[in-house]
Amino acid sequence: MSSLITLNKDYNIKVSSNINNYLNPDYVYIPILKDYKLLVKNKEIVRKEQVILINKENTITCPISGVVVGMTDCVLYNGIKSRCLVIENDFKERMFKRNASRKTLNNISFEELLEIMKNKHVYNDNNESLYDLFKEKVNTNTLIINCVEDEPYIVSEEFEARTYINEILEMISALMGILNIKNAKLVFKNIDRDNIECYNNVLGTYPNIKVVLVPDLYLLGKRNLLLKHLSIDSNKVLHLNIHDIYKLYNIIKRNRSISEKLITVSGDGVINPQVFNVKIGTNIGDLVKDNIKLKDGVSCISNGLMAGTIVDYKKLIVTENLQGIVFTKIKECNEIKCIKCGKCSEICPMNINPEEILHSDESKNREKCINCGLCNYICPSYIDLCGKVRGEDHE
Ligand code: SF4
Ligand code: SF4
Repeated sequence: MSSLITLNKDYNIKVSSNINNYLNPDYVYIPILKDYKLLVKNKEIVRKEQVILINKENTITCPISGVVVGMTDCVLYNGIKSRCLVIENDFKERMFKRNASRKTLNNISFEELLEIMKNKHVYNDNNESLYDLFKEKVNTNTLIINCVEDEPYIVSEEFEARTYINEILEMISALMGILNIKNAKLVFKNIDRDNIECYNNVLGTYPNIKVVLVPDLYLLGKRNLLLKHLSIDSNKVLHLNIHDIYKLYNIIKRNRSISEKLITVSGDGVINPQVFNVKIGTNIGDLVKDNIKLKDGVSCISNGLMAGTIVDYKKLIVTENLQGIVFTKIKECNEIKCIKCGKCSEICPMNINPEEILHSDESKNREKCINCGLCNYICPSYIDLCGKVRGEDHE
């Protein structure tokens, strides 16, 4: 496996330290994904947290109260078009069912935790069922909480870590008790000074939770690469992201599903880069129109420069997988012939030879690709290796 690298970054791009709330959009747009059954009709009144879509494994709830006013085509974080249910906001936040919060997380049993994970269909950021993960990791000694943000200029999880520090520590401590885990390690990049200071200031009251620092290397936000870097056997630890922990807190303590999330709007094409707390289903076009000053001639890349996708931001909607958007001028780089320098295979963290794979039908290696963008980043001939390895047609 190649050594991980530090990416070149423009350190002049700084996101405002305050989170801006954008929680009252006129409309929200909820994707009607394949295999999901729609449970509401046009003109029907809906309430916050009402289940509006369902499939065999999952349910999707409404993030606002209002009325269903139709359907339209929107764009998801990965650039894919999706038919979406349009809900007009009545700004009353009327709940479908008002569930009481728990006073404490201290008295939850392992069986009860599993039951909540199963009934509420809770998945982590890697799209794994937390019911399965907790059941499997019942004899684990260490909990690793990954607070490493990979994409340059996207800082949503860093902000989440310090904004909800009390909730996050309460949830980590409760999980350790329920799963009988002795130690927890919160992993931050050594350049994330704000979080390091915040957590070191309060960790005295949590002696079994420690801060671990890692260098600013691209891809340490990925579970396998982080654990390899820390020389930890993945079978012996439970690994969760900071967002997984905050989601668990909302589901278990507040008895709520996630209806809001933090997203970063940044890049050298933005005059006022900021982090927003937005409703799930918000149209990014509305958010940008009301809050962001863009430079001329910039394009929008959802989920970051390295692994993201160029999208039409006016049609992009906020889903749980959207971490942020970066606006930049896309440089005109004409692809030229491969000079066989071998840099793409040297840098690939998955031991793929992207140049070779372009000329073969071998699907096993293609499936190994984690879409990290490093081969594109390094290629002196400006070849879109990443897209081609994954079989995407960008022509
Ligand atoms: S995008 Fe895929 S092929 Fe390219 S470096 Fe990353 S893992 Fe390797
Ligand atoms: S990095 Fe680009 S030029 Fe070099 S071998 Fe790979 S595809 Fe060819």
